[in-house]
Amino acid sequence: TTTITPLIAGNWKMNGVRASLDELTALAGILTTGDAPRAIVVVCPPATILAAVARQGATSGILAGGQDCHPAAHGAYTGDIAAGMLADAGAQYVIVGHSERRAAHGETDDLVRSKAEAAIGAGLKPIICVGETEAERDSGRAESVVAAQLAGSIPDAAGQHDVIIAYEPVWAIGTGRTPSNDDIAQMHNSIRRQLVDRFGDKGQGIHILYGGSLKPQNAREILALDNVNGGLVGGASLLAKDFATIISAV
Ligand code: PEP
Repeated sequence: TTTITPLIAGNWKMNGVRASLDELTALAGILTTGDAPRAIVVVCPPATILAAVARQGATSGILAGGQDCHPAAHGAYTGDIAAGMLADAGAQYVIVGHSERRAAHGETDDLVRSKAEAAIGAGLKPIICVGETEAERDSGRAESVVAAQLAGSIPDAAGQHDVIIAYEPVWAIGTGRTPSNDDIAQMHNSIRRQLVDRFGDKGQGIHILYGGSLKPQNAREILALDNVNGGLVGGASLLAKDFATIISAV
């Protein structure tokens, strides 16, 4: 089996101003004092401070990512940000298809796939998010819903370029609730099978992150599960101490 270096990404969502760079300084301080982190560490701040995060992170091995991008390279799209602009600001990653955007902005699998393609075209690694709602899980459809999202959201280019998958059950995001370890492992195994079916050996090496109420208290057991290659962390990524604890749980 392929060894995958775990990846922990923090999604700051719409939180963070220039003063929040102090939290990044604190994180860098913690990460550089202990043993070297066993994970690739990514912080995805609001776009207004992305360049500053990338610049500051460069000195401490913390990588920067965007939270969304537009599928087009440029043009008359007021308020949107192109993948190439994120790359220009120093990003190496970009989250696409987060459930908050799928829900609040009506993003479809087709749109998410074009965003992922744009990201790859700009030299970024897209973090493609999928996950079922509570009703979908309760009715036994979690795996089929996620399978359909993966089929529709991952571009064919993932056969030649790096993409990252984040499994984030919608009902676990920001709620303090998580699926059982068995349910997480079962879903990640099912995602792995689908990636290998579609991309062969390349599919063995694709990161599958878990996201949804990942905290210092549950990180160790969740991150140790089969085919969990790291995490996407919302709330707990805002405090350097909590985020560092999750990183060191890898
Ligand atoms: C997220 O929104 O990507 C997320 C995982 O949020 P939280 O950790 O706050 O549940």
